[in-house]
Amino acid sequence: MNTHAKPSKLVKGATGDWEIVVGMEIHAQVTSKSKLFSGASTDFGGDPNSHVSLVDAAMPGMLPVINEECIKQAVRTGLGLKAQINHRSTFDRKNYFYPDLPQGYQISQFKSPIVGEGEVIVDVTATEQITVGIERLHLEQDAGKSLHDQSATESYVDLNRSGVALMEIVSKPDIRSAEEARAYVTKLRTILRYLGTCDGNMEEGSLRADVNVSVRRPGAPLGTRCEIKNVNSIRFIGQAVDVEARRQIAIIEDGGTIAQETRLFDPGRGETRSMRSKEEAHDYRYFPDPDLLPLEFDQAFVDELASHLPELPDEKRARFIAQFGLPSYDAGVLVMEREAADYFETVAAGRDAKIAANWVINELFGRLNKEGATIATSPVSAGQLGTIVDLITSGTISGKIAKDLFEIVWAEGGDPRELVEARGMKQVTDTGAIEKAVDEIIAANPEKVAQAQAKPTMLGWFVGQVMKQTGGKANPQAVNDVLKQKLGI
Ligand code: MN
Repeated sequence: MNTHAKPSKLVKGATGDWEIVVGMEIHAQVTSKSKLFSGASTDFGGDPNSHVSLVDAAMPGMLPVINEECIKQAVRTGLGLKAQINHRSTFDRKNYFYPDLPQGYQISQFKSPIVGEGEVIVDVTATEQITVGIERLHLEQDAGKSLHDQSATESYVDLNRSGVALMEIVSKPDIRSAEEARAYVTKLRTILRYLGTCDGNMEEGSLRADVNVSVRRPGAPLGTRCEIKNVNSIRFIGQAVDVEARRQIAIIEDGGTIAQETRLFDPGRGETRSMRSKEEAHDYRYFPDPDLLPLEFDQAFVDELASHLPELPDEKRARFIAQFGLPSYDAGVLVMEREAADYFETVAAGRDAKIAANWVINELFGRLNKEGATIATSPVSAGQLGTIVDLITSGTISGKIAKDLFEIVWAEGGDPRELVEARGMKQVTDTGAIEKAVDEIIAANPEKVAQAQAKPTMLGWFVGQVMKQTGGKANPQAVNDVLKQKLGI
């Protein structure tokens, strides 16, 4: 397990090196049509208080009824995290007051969660992999939302989210840098999306991270941690880890001590600030919810769910390496999103997989990123890109022309094969046409000819001229051959 940081990950302080230690609690909204204990809709963006049942509003006498789909989603997620699935778990009341929590308590799982220990393999860089341990996953209700900016004198509450099912996924403190923290959340989100158990949409609040940060001297016992609440973007998670670690190091080096507390990250100011002193578990007066029986299922229930799990990113990546001979890094990039991996497989089917991977990763992903588009809305379909790859491998078009063709298909659509015909983009391999161009250029540039004959590296200038004259369509190898022959070099 990832206990001690590599020297390269240590942070230099005024008095020596420090090691950052991070553990995370991720709240992931369960993908399901209705809430954890009621039939109300979980749709995002409805009018305030339009998705609220009597249970969610905590009317007296209402009884919670567990939603079986949410249980299945939690078990699927546990399987995806290679985790212990607990056949018996219990729901507890976590008591605290919030204006947007009408029950006065949150139904959660404290003593016996539905999922126990597991692990996530995280690609930190192209060459570095770490394993982050999972401590537990439990089911709990989300709270509503207070709205303070609608009126100058009153606060409003929207209970649409009240009672929506969350999976709280708690990691072990196995993370050692901001980069590792970002990579962990990225990988976890990829797994959840593959499983279809959480959409991972951080802007809509479907995935929120509480980031626990402490620092210590390398090899020393764990330091006192601070919890940075509800960080809602992967970039901010990285920034929050760095600024919080810096803050703690400065305090300790100044002779102070770290107070355990809950803090907020302010991305605008690039700092964390105190929210409240940390509560201990006993502050919440947890006790078993008397309205809910222990949750029990058998191994057959788990096996049935396991038999329908999709191929997960780690397995898909291993298959891409074995089946297509792709470098591990390329395979890793291709499996980040399930839709992108499917797209690649369609392009690669029956074709040179390395060329297909290059085009998907460099041209397609590059263009999608530039436009802020996604694979689902890509203007170039897998079928169209496959045809472009065919045209390259058959020698019909050069790699350079292929990029122009890709742009045309992106902007205008159409069958790449027909576009090549209609716009005269075919590669010129006919040496007669190339010879004609070469003769003209030689005749027009006698001084360059003398230079090239004295210094053969000048050949590149002639190649460039021929390409210009043929609109980039001349076969580069044929151009080189003809030039060498005509110039006698
Ligand atoms: Mn929680």
